[in-house]
Amino acid sequence: MEEEQGQRRKHVVLVPCPYQGHITPMLQLGTILYSKGFSITVVHTDFNSPNPSNHPKFSFQSIPDGLADDDIYSGNIIAIIMHLNANCGAPFHKCLVQMMKQQMPADEIVCIIYDELMYFAESAANQLKLRSIILRTNSAATQISRIALLQRKEDGSIPLQDPSNLADPVPRLQPLRFKDLPFSQFGLPENFLQLIPKIYNVRTSKAVIWNTMNCIEQSSLSQLQQQCNIPIFPVGPLHKFAPSSPGSLLKEDTSCISWLNNQAPNSVLYVSLGSIVSMDKKELKEMAWGLYNSKQPFLWVIRPSSTSASSGIELLPEGFEEAVGENGCVVKWAPQKDVLSHIAVGGFWSHCGWNSTLESICEGVPMICRPGFGDQRVSARYVSHVWRIGLQLENDLEKGEVEKAVKQLMVEKEGQEMRQRAKNLKEDVELCIKESGSSSSSLNKFLEFFNLF
Ligand code: UDP
Repeated sequence: MEEEQGQRRKHVVLVPCPYQGHITPMLQLGTILYSKGFSITVVHTDFNSPNPSNHPKFSFQSIPDGLADDDIYSGNIIAIIMHLNANCGAPFHKCLVQMMKQQMPADEIVCIIYDELMYFAESAANQLKLRSIILRTNSAATQISRIALLQRKEDGSIPLQDPSNLADPVPRLQPLRFKDLPFSQFGLPENFLQLIPKIYNVRTSKAVIWNTMNCIEQSSLSQLQQQCNIPIFPVGPLHKFAPSSPGSLLKEDTSCISWLNNQAPNSVLYVSLGSIVSMDKKELKEMAWGLYNSKQPFLWVIRPSSTSASSGIELLPEGFEEAVGENGCVVKWAPQKDVLSHIAVGGFWSHCGWNSTLESICEGVPMICRPGFGDQRVSARYVSHVWRIGLQLENDLEKGEVEKAVKQLMVEKEGQEMRQRAKNLKEDVELCIKESGSSSSSLNKFLEFFNLF
Protein backbone atom coordinates (compact mmCIF):
# COMPACT_ATOMS: atom_id res chain seq x y z
CA MET A 1 0.00 0.00 0.00
CA GLU A 2 1.17 3.54 -0.75
CA GLU A 3 1.18 4.47 2.93
CA GLU A 4 3.69 1.74 3.79
CA GLN A 5 5.99 2.81 0.96
CA GLY A 6 5.76 6.44 2.02
CA GLN A 7 4.54 7.43 -1.44
CA ARG A 8 1.19 9.08 -1.01
CA ARG A 9 0.23 10.16 -4.46
CA LYS A 10 -3.22 11.54 -4.72
CA HIS A 11 -4.22 14.58 -2.77
CA VAL A 12 -7.80 15.16 -1.65
CA VAL A 13 -9.07 18.46 -0.23
CA LEU A 14 -11.94 18.21 2.26
CA VAL A 15 -14.28 21.10 3.01
CA PRO A 16 -16.39 20.35 6.12
CA CYS A 17 -19.29 22.47 7.34
CA PRO A 18 -18.27 23.93 10.72
CA TYR A 19 -20.72 22.10 12.97
CA GLN A 20 -20.01 19.02 15.05
CA GLY A 21 -22.47 16.77 13.22
CA HIS A 22 -20.82 17.67 9.89
CA ILE A 23 -17.14 17.88 10.85
CA THR A 24 -17.11 14.40 12.40
CA PRO A 25 -18.26 12.43 9.33
CA MET A 26 -15.99 14.49 7.03
CA LEU A 27 -12.96 13.66 9.20
CA GLN A 28 -14.04 10.03 9.27
CA LEU A 29 -14.16 10.02 5.47
CA GLY A 30 -10.71 11.62 5.44
CA THR A 31 -9.43 8.87 7.76
CA ILE A 32 -10.76 6.20 5.39
CA LEU A 33 -9.21 7.88 2.34
CA TYR A 34 -5.90 8.34 4.16
CA SER A 35 -5.84 4.61 4.99
CA LYS A 36 -6.28 3.96 1.26
CA GLY A 37 -3.19 5.98 0.38
CA PHE A 38 -4.53 9.47 -0.29
CA SER A 39 -3.05 12.55 1.30
CA ILE A 40 -5.58 14.79 2.99
CA THR A 41 -5.90 18.54 3.42
CA VAL A 42 -8.81 19.88 5.44
CA VAL A 43 -9.78 23.45 4.54
CA HIS A 44 -11.86 24.86 7.36
CA THR A 45 -13.35 28.11 8.59
CA ASP A 46 -12.06 30.02 11.61
CA PHE A 47 -15.43 29.44 13.21
CA ASN A 48 -15.59 26.04 14.98
CA SER A 49 -12.24 24.98 13.57
CA PRO A 50 -11.24 21.34 14.13
CA ASN A 51 -8.25 20.50 16.30
CA PRO A 52 -5.36 19.55 13.96
CA SER A 53 -3.59 17.59 16.70
CA ASN A 54 -6.37 14.98 16.56
CA HIS A 55 -5.31 14.20 12.99
CA PRO A 56 -1.53 14.65 12.83
CA LYS A 57 -1.32 13.01 9.40
CA PHE A 58 -3.66 15.51 7.74
CA SER A 59 -2.80 19.07 6.70
CA PHE A 60 -5.14 21.81 7.90
CA GLN A 61 -5.67 25.18 6.22
CA SER A 62 -7.84 27.85 7.70
CA ILE A 63 -9.77 30.32 5.53
CA PRO A 64 -11.34 33.55 6.80
CA ASP A 65 -15.09 33.13 7.05
CA GLY A 66 -16.07 36.79 7.52
CA LEU A 67 -18.57 35.89 10.26
CA ALA A 68 -19.25 38.69 12.72
CA ASP A 69 -19.65 37.86 16.41
CA ASP A 70 -23.32 38.84 16.08
CA ASP A 71 -23.83 36.19 13.38
CA ILE A 72 -22.27 33.55 15.57
CA TYR A 73 -24.11 34.48 18.76
CA SER A 74 -27.42 34.70 16.89
CA GLY A 75 -27.27 30.91 16.55
CA ASN A 76 -29.19 31.31 13.28
CA ILE A 77 -27.67 28.42 11.40
CA ILE A 78 -29.39 29.14 8.10
CA ALA A 79 -28.05 32.71 8.09
CA ILE A 80 -24.59 31.47 9.08
CA ILE A 81 -24.54 28.90 6.25
CA MET A 82 -25.62 31.57 3.76
CA HIS A 83 -22.94 33.94 5.03
CA LEU A 84 -20.29 31.27 4.82
CA ASN A 85 -21.19 30.55 1.22
CA ALA A 86 -21.13 34.23 0.38
CA ASN A 87 -17.84 34.86 2.17
CA CYS A 88 -15.69 31.77 1.72
CA GLY A 89 -15.61 31.28 -2.08
CA ALA A 90 -12.83 33.81 -2.79
CA PRO A 91 -10.53 32.80 0.12
CA PHE A 92 -11.04 29.13 -0.76
CA HIS A 93 -10.12 29.81 -4.39
CA LYS A 94 -6.99 31.63 -3.23
CA CYS A 95 -6.09 28.79 -0.89
CA LEU A 96 -6.43 26.24 -3.71
CA VAL A 97 -4.31 28.35 -6.06
CA GLN A 98 -1.61 28.49 -3.39
CA MET A 99 -1.73 24.74 -2.87
CA MET A 100 -1.59 24.09 -6.62
CA LYS A 101 1.45 26.35 -6.96
CA GLN A 102 3.29 24.38 -4.31
CA GLN A 103 2.23 20.91 -5.39
CA MET A 104 4.53 18.46 -7.12
CA PRO A 105 3.12 16.47 -10.06
CA ALA A 106 3.12 13.44 -7.75
CA ASP A 107 0.79 14.96 -5.20
CA GLU A 108 -1.57 16.96 -7.32
CA ILE A 109 -5.07 17.64 -6.07
CA VAL A 110 -7.38 15.07 -7.61
CA CYS A 111 -10.61 16.09 -5.98
CA ILE A 112 -12.42 18.44 -3.61
CA ILE A 113 -14.92 16.73 -1.33
CA TYR A 114 -17.30 19.26 0.18
CA ASP A 115 -20.16 19.09 2.64
CA GLU A 116 -23.48 19.66 0.85
CA LEU A 117 -23.92 22.90 2.81
CA MET A 118 -20.56 24.31 1.66
CA TYR A 119 -21.53 24.62 -1.98
CA PHE A 120 -19.16 27.58 -2.53
CA ALA A 121 -16.43 24.92 -2.80
CA GLU A 122 -17.88 23.56 -6.01
CA SER A 123 -17.63 26.85 -7.92
CA ALA A 124 -14.05 27.42 -6.76
CA ALA A 125 -13.17 23.86 -7.84
CA ASN A 126 -14.84 24.44 -11.18
CA GLN A 127 -12.97 27.65 -11.86
CA LEU A 128 -9.71 25.77 -11.32
CA LYS A 129 -10.85 22.75 -13.34
CA LEU A 130 -10.76 20.50 -10.30
CA ARG A 131 -13.28 17.72 -9.75
CA SER A 132 -15.66 17.87 -6.84
CA ILE A 133 -17.73 15.37 -4.88
CA ILE A 134 -20.52 16.06 -2.38
CA LEU A 135 -20.67 14.52 1.10
CA ARG A 136 -24.17 14.27 2.54
CA THR A 137 -24.33 13.88 6.31
CA ASN A 138 -28.11 13.59 6.66
CA SER A 139 -30.50 10.78 5.93
CA ALA A 140 -31.78 10.07 2.43
CA ALA A 141 -35.31 10.46 3.84
CA THR A 142 -34.44 14.03 4.86
CA GLN A 143 -33.41 14.81 1.30
CA ILE A 144 -36.69 13.48 -0.05
CA SER A 145 -38.69 15.48 2.47
CA ARG A 146 -36.77 18.67 1.62
CA ILE A 147 -37.88 18.16 -1.98
CA ALA A 148 -41.46 17.76 -0.69
CA LEU A 149 -41.12 21.10 1.12
CA LEU A 150 -40.18 22.78 -2.14
CA GLN A 151 -43.12 21.18 -3.90
CA ARG A 152 -45.40 22.61 -1.25
CA LYS A 153 -43.88 25.99 -1.87
CA GLU A 154 -44.72 25.64 -5.54
CA ASP A 155 -48.32 24.66 -4.84
CA GLY A 156 -48.63 27.65 -2.53
CA SER A 157 -49.06 25.82 0.76
CA ILE A 158 -45.95 27.17 2.52
CA PRO A 159 -45.93 28.46 5.15
CA LEU A 160 -48.26 25.86 6.59
CA GLN A 161 -51.08 28.17 7.53
CA ASP A 162 -53.44 25.72 9.09
CA PRO A 163 -52.12 24.10 12.26
CA SER A 164 -54.94 21.54 12.11
CA ASN A 165 -53.21 19.98 9.08
CA LEU A 166 -49.94 19.41 10.81
CA ALA A 167 -50.80 15.90 11.95
CA ASP A 168 -51.96 14.84 8.45
CA PRO A 169 -49.77 12.42 6.52
CA VAL A 170 -47.75 13.89 3.65
CA PRO A 171 -48.94 12.21 0.44
CA ARG A 172 -46.39 9.64 -0.80
CA LEU A 173 -44.12 10.25 2.19
CA GLN A 174 -45.85 8.21 4.86
CA PRO A 175 -45.32 7.85 7.75
CA LEU A 176 -44.16 11.48 7.69
CA ARG A 177 -46.73 14.08 8.76
CA PHE A 178 -46.58 17.72 7.75
CA LYS A 179 -45.15 18.56 11.12
CA ASP A 180 -42.28 16.13 10.52
CA LEU A 181 -41.06 17.95 7.41
CA PRO A 182 -37.59 19.39 7.93
CA PHE A 183 -38.49 23.00 8.58
CA SER A 184 -35.85 25.12 10.12
CA GLN A 185 -36.53 26.99 13.35
CA PHE A 186 -34.11 29.68 12.27
CA GLY A 187 -35.49 32.81 10.68
CA LEU A 188 -37.94 33.02 7.83
CA PRO A 189 -38.92 29.81 6.06
CA GLU A 190 -38.19 31.63 2.78
CA ASN A 191 -34.48 31.67 3.63
CA PHE A 192 -34.47 27.97 4.25
CA LEU A 193 -36.44 27.31 1.08
CA GLN A 194 -33.85 29.29 -0.87
CA LEU A 195 -31.14 27.14 0.58
CA ILE A 196 -32.75 23.77 -0.22
CA PRO A 197 -32.09 23.73 -4.00
CA LYS A 198 -28.50 24.75 -3.36
CA ILE A 199 -28.14 21.77 -1.04
CA TYR A 200 -29.70 19.17 -3.25
CA ASN A 201 -28.54 20.32 -6.69
CA VAL A 202 -25.45 18.41 -7.67
CA ARG A 203 -24.28 21.06 -10.18
CA THR A 204 -21.09 19.79 -11.85
CA SER A 205 -20.03 17.50 -9.01
CA LYS A 206 -19.04 14.01 -10.03
CA ALA A 207 -20.62 11.89 -7.29
CA VAL A 208 -22.40 11.94 -3.95
CA ILE A 209 -21.04 10.12 -0.92
CA TRP A 210 -23.74 9.51 1.66
CA ASN A 211 -23.37 8.66 5.31
CA THR A 212 -26.25 6.21 5.28
CA MET A 213 -26.76 2.62 4.26
CA ASN A 214 -29.02 0.53 2.12
CA CYS A 215 -30.12 -1.72 4.97
CA ILE A 216 -32.06 1.15 6.57
CA GLU A 217 -32.79 3.48 3.62
CA GLN A 218 -32.90 1.38 0.49
CA SER A 219 -36.15 2.71 -0.90
CA SER A 220 -35.26 6.39 -0.34
CA LEU A 221 -31.80 5.85 -1.80
CA SER A 222 -33.05 4.16 -4.94
CA GLN A 223 -35.67 6.86 -5.43
CA LEU A 224 -32.94 9.52 -5.16
CA GLN A 225 -30.58 7.63 -7.46
CA GLN A 226 -33.30 7.55 -10.12
CA GLN A 227 -33.54 11.35 -9.96
CA CYS A 228 -29.80 11.94 -9.91
CA ASN A 229 -27.55 11.70 -12.95
CA ILE A 230 -24.34 11.05 -11.02
CA PRO A 231 -23.52 8.03 -8.85
CA ILE A 232 -24.61 7.98 -5.22
CA PHE A 233 -22.43 5.94 -2.88
CA PRO A 234 -24.09 5.06 0.45
CA VAL A 235 -21.01 4.24 2.53
CA GLY A 236 -22.31 4.60 6.06
CA PRO A 237 -21.99 4.33 8.90
CA LEU A 238 -18.68 6.13 8.42
CA HIS A 239 -17.80 5.91 12.11
CA LYS A 240 -17.69 2.13 11.85
CA PHE A 241 -15.24 2.31 8.94
CA ALA A 242 -13.10 4.87 10.78
CA PRO A 243 -13.49 3.99 14.47
CA SER A 244 -10.31 5.77 15.51
CA SER A 245 -11.14 9.18 14.03
CA PRO A 246 -11.62 11.70 16.86
CA GLY A 247 -13.61 14.77 15.94
CA SER A 248 -15.07 16.30 19.10
CA LEU A 249 -14.96 20.09 19.27
CA LEU A 250 -15.56 19.91 23.03
CA LYS A 251 -13.50 18.01 25.58
CA GLU A 252 -15.02 14.63 26.41
CA ASP A 253 -15.55 13.86 30.08
CA THR A 254 -14.52 10.20 30.31
CA SER A 255 -15.33 9.94 34.03
CA CYS A 256 -18.84 8.89 33.05
CA ILE A 257 -17.44 5.58 31.78
CA SER A 258 -16.29 4.70 35.32
CA TRP A 259 -19.79 5.56 36.54
CA LEU A 260 -21.30 3.34 33.82
CA ASN A 261 -19.00 0.49 34.87
CA ASN A 262 -20.89 0.35 38.18
CA GLN A 263 -24.36 0.09 36.63
CA ALA A 264 -26.33 -3.03 35.73
CA PRO A 265 -26.57 -4.13 32.06
CA ASN A 266 -29.19 -2.28 29.99
CA SER A 267 -30.27 -0.20 33.00
CA VAL A 268 -29.00 3.29 32.09
CA LEU A 269 -30.81 5.87 29.99
CA TYR A 270 -28.26 8.03 28.14
CA VAL A 271 -29.62 11.55 27.54
CA SER A 272 -28.06 13.91 25.02
CA LEU A 273 -29.45 16.51 22.65
CA GLY A 274 -26.36 16.84 20.45
CA SER A 275 -24.32 19.94 19.80
CA ILE A 276 -26.93 22.55 18.79
CA VAL A 277 -30.41 21.97 20.26
CA SER A 278 -31.13 23.97 23.38
CA MET A 279 -33.91 23.92 25.97
CA ASP A 280 -35.30 26.52 28.33
CA LYS A 281 -35.04 26.45 32.09
CA LYS A 282 -38.59 25.18 32.55
CA GLU A 283 -38.04 22.25 30.18
CA LEU A 284 -34.79 21.43 31.93
CA LYS A 285 -36.62 21.34 35.25
CA GLU A 286 -39.44 19.11 34.01
CA MET A 287 -36.95 16.78 32.39
CA ALA A 288 -34.83 16.64 35.55
CA TRP A 289 -37.70 15.69 37.88
CA GLY A 290 -39.19 13.29 35.32
CA LEU A 291 -35.88 11.47 35.11
CA TYR A 292 -35.57 11.43 38.89
CA ASN A 293 -39.12 10.13 39.39
CA SER A 294 -38.57 7.30 36.91
CA LYS A 295 -35.97 5.86 39.35
CA GLN A 296 -34.01 4.70 36.32
CA PRO A 297 -30.25 5.43 36.37
CA PHE A 298 -29.33 8.08 33.79
CA LEU A 299 -26.28 9.67 32.23
CA TRP A 300 -27.18 13.18 31.09
CA VAL A 301 -25.15 15.48 28.85
CA ILE A 302 -25.87 19.15 29.52
CA ARG A 303 -23.65 21.28 27.31
CA PRO A 304 -22.74 24.74 28.61
CA SER A 305 -24.85 26.23 25.81
CA SER A 306 -27.66 23.68 25.78
CA THR A 307 -30.08 25.94 27.58
CA SER A 308 -31.26 29.23 26.19
CA ALA A 309 -29.85 30.90 29.31
CA SER A 310 -26.15 31.46 29.63
CA SER A 311 -25.04 28.21 31.22
CA GLY A 312 -26.13 24.60 31.55
CA ILE A 313 -25.57 22.38 34.56
CA GLU A 314 -25.88 25.38 36.91
CA LEU A 315 -29.53 25.73 35.86
CA LEU A 316 -30.55 22.32 37.19
CA PRO A 317 -33.20 22.72 39.89
CA GLU A 318 -31.98 23.24 43.40
CA GLY A 319 -31.61 19.99 45.33
CA PHE A 320 -31.77 17.87 42.16
CA GLU A 321 -28.21 16.57 42.16
CA GLU A 322 -28.32 15.76 45.89
CA ALA A 323 -31.65 13.95 45.45
CA VAL A 324 -30.33 11.89 42.53
CA GLY A 325 -27.02 10.99 44.17
CA GLU A 326 -25.33 7.99 42.57
CA ASN A 327 -28.39 7.17 40.47
CA GLY A 328 -27.46 9.82 37.93
CA CYS A 329 -24.36 11.24 36.30
CA VAL A 330 -24.34 14.66 34.60
CA VAL A 331 -21.51 15.73 32.30
CA LYS A 332 -20.88 18.60 29.89
CA TRP A 333 -19.83 16.39 26.95
CA ALA A 334 -19.52 12.61 26.78
CA PRO A 335 -17.54 10.17 24.61
CA GLN A 336 -20.87 9.28 23.01
CA LYS A 337 -19.87 6.30 20.88
CA ASP A 338 -18.20 4.63 23.87
CA VAL A 339 -21.25 5.38 25.99
CA LEU A 340 -23.68 3.87 23.48
CA SER A 341 -21.60 0.72 23.13
CA HIS A 342 -21.37 0.29 26.93
CA ILE A 343 -23.24 -2.76 28.22
CA ALA A 344 -24.94 -0.69 30.95
CA VAL A 345 -26.72 1.57 28.45
CA GLY A 346 -30.23 0.38 27.61
CA GLY A 347 -31.79 3.49 26.07
CA PHE A 348 -30.94 6.81 24.43
CA TRP A 349 -33.00 9.97 24.87
CA SER A 350 -31.94 11.82 21.76
CA HIS A 351 -32.75 14.83 19.63
CA CYS A 352 -32.28 12.46 16.65
CA GLY A 353 -29.44 14.25 14.91
CA TRP A 354 -28.39 11.93 12.09
CA ASN A 355 -25.04 10.97 13.64
CA SER A 356 -26.64 10.19 16.98
CA THR A 357 -29.35 8.16 15.26
CA LEU A 358 -26.79 6.14 13.30
CA GLU A 359 -24.63 5.65 16.40
CA SER A 360 -27.63 4.38 18.37
CA ILE A 361 -28.73 2.03 15.57
CA CYS A 362 -25.19 0.65 15.29
CA GLU A 363 -25.18 -0.29 18.98
CA GLY A 364 -28.73 -1.66 19.05
CA VAL A 365 -29.90 0.96 21.58
CA PRO A 366 -33.63 1.92 21.47
CA MET A 367 -34.52 5.59 21.71
CA ILE A 368 -36.76 8.24 23.22
CA CYS A 369 -36.98 10.82 20.44
CA ARG A 370 -37.28 14.50 21.25
CA PRO A 371 -36.41 16.22 17.97
CA GLY A 372 -35.67 19.91 17.83
CA PHE A 373 -35.74 21.12 14.25
CA GLY A 374 -35.06 20.26 10.62
CA ASP A 375 -33.93 16.75 9.77
CA GLN A 376 -34.26 15.63 13.41
CA ARG A 377 -38.03 15.41 13.01
CA VAL A 378 -37.74 13.16 9.98
CA SER A 379 -35.30 10.86 11.77
CA ALA A 380 -37.49 10.76 14.89
CA ARG A 381 -40.44 9.62 12.81
CA TYR A 382 -38.34 6.95 11.10
CA VAL A 383 -37.05 5.72 14.48
CA SER A 384 -40.55 5.46 15.92
CA HIS A 385 -42.63 4.45 12.89
CA VAL A 386 -40.38 2.86 10.26
CA TRP A 387 -37.69 0.99 12.19
CA ARG A 388 -39.91 0.99 15.33
CA ILE A 389 -36.96 1.15 17.69
CA GLY A 390 -38.13 4.08 19.78
CA LEU A 391 -40.95 6.32 20.92
CA GLN A 392 -41.42 10.01 20.35
CA LEU A 393 -42.19 12.55 23.07
CA GLU A 394 -44.28 15.10 21.23
CA ASN A 395 -46.05 17.40 23.64
CA ASP A 396 -44.70 20.04 26.00
CA LEU A 397 -42.17 18.54 28.35
CA GLU A 398 -43.91 17.68 31.61
CA LYS A 399 -42.37 15.61 34.37
CA GLY A 400 -45.20 13.03 34.48
CA GLU A 401 -44.89 12.43 30.71
CA VAL A 402 -41.12 12.17 30.99
CA GLU A 403 -41.37 9.59 33.77
CA LYS A 404 -43.92 7.58 31.78
CA ALA A 405 -41.80 7.58 28.61
CA VAL A 406 -38.65 6.55 30.49
CA LYS A 407 -40.42 3.63 32.17
CA GLN A 408 -42.05 2.62 28.90
CA LEU A 409 -38.70 2.40 27.13
CA MET A 410 -36.58 1.03 29.94
CA VAL A 411 -38.81 -1.45 31.77
CA GLU A 412 -42.09 -2.11 30.03
CA LYS A 413 -42.90 -4.76 27.43
CA GLU A 414 -43.22 -2.23 24.61
CA GLY A 415 -39.69 -1.02 25.33
CA GLN A 416 -38.37 -4.57 25.40
CA GLU A 417 -39.85 -5.16 21.96
CA MET A 418 -38.19 -1.96 20.70
CA ARG A 419 -34.90 -3.15 22.21
CA GLN A 420 -35.22 -6.48 20.40
CA ARG A 421 -35.91 -4.73 17.08
CA ALA A 422 -32.96 -2.42 17.71
CA LYS A 423 -30.72 -5.48 18.26
CA ASN A 424 -31.99 -6.98 14.99
CA LEU A 425 -31.28 -3.72 13.14
CA LYS A 426 -27.79 -3.64 14.63
CA GLU A 427 -27.21 -7.10 13.12
CA ASP A 428 -28.41 -5.84 9.73
CA VAL A 429 -25.93 -2.98 9.94
CA GLU A 430 -23.15 -5.39 10.86
CA LEU A 431 -23.90 -7.29 7.66
CA CYS A 432 -23.80 -4.01 5.69
CA ILE A 433 -20.27 -3.28 6.80
CA LYS A 434 -18.92 -6.82 6.38
CA GLU A 435 -16.67 -7.38 3.40
CA SER A 436 -19.43 -8.24 0.93
CA GLY A 437 -22.07 -6.06 2.63
CA SER A 438 -23.78 -3.19 0.81
CA SER A 439 -21.82 -0.35 2.45
CA SER A 440 -18.45 -2.09 2.00
CA SER A 441 -19.24 -2.80 -1.64
CA SER A 442 -20.34 0.79 -2.10
CA LEU A 443 -17.14 2.04 -0.50
CA ASN A 444 -15.08 -0.20 -2.81
CA LYS A 445 -17.01 1.03 -5.84
CA PHE A 446 -16.45 4.59 -4.72
CA LEU A 447 -12.70 3.96 -4.39
CA GLU A 448 -12.59 2.37 -7.86
CA PHE A 449 -14.45 5.38 -9.27
CA PHE A 450 -12.14 7.71 -7.39
CA ASN A 451 -9.01 5.93 -8.60
CA LEU A 452 -10.00 6.72 -12.18
CA PHE A 453 -9.34 10.41 -11.44
N1 UDP B 1 -21.56 13.86 20.74
C1 UDP B 1 -20.54 13.52 21.60
N2 UDP B 1 -20.70 13.77 22.92
C2 UDP B 1 -21.82 14.29 23.44
C3 UDP B 1 -22.87 14.63 22.57
C4 UDP B 1 -22.71 14.40 21.23
O1 UDP B 1 -19.49 13.03 21.17
O2 UDP B 1 -21.86 14.49 24.66
C5 UDP B 1 -21.38 13.61 19.31
C6 UDP B 1 -22.24 12.48 18.81
O3 UDP B 1 -21.56 11.25 19.00
C7 UDP B 1 -22.48 12.84 17.37
C8 UDP B 1 -22.35 14.36 17.34
O4 UDP B 1 -21.79 14.75 18.57
O5 UDP B 1 -21.48 12.25 16.55
C9 UDP B 1 -23.69 15.07 17.20
O6 UDP B 1 -24.13 14.97 15.90
P1 UDP B 1 -25.66 14.78 15.55
O7 UDP B 1 -25.75 14.69 14.08
O8 UDP B 1 -26.24 13.66 16.30
O9 UDP B 1 -26.35 16.07 16.13
P2 UDP B 1 -26.03 17.64 15.99
O10 UDP B 1 -25.05 17.97 17.03
O11 UDP B 1 -25.53 17.89 14.60
O12 UDP B 1 -27.35 18.27 16.25
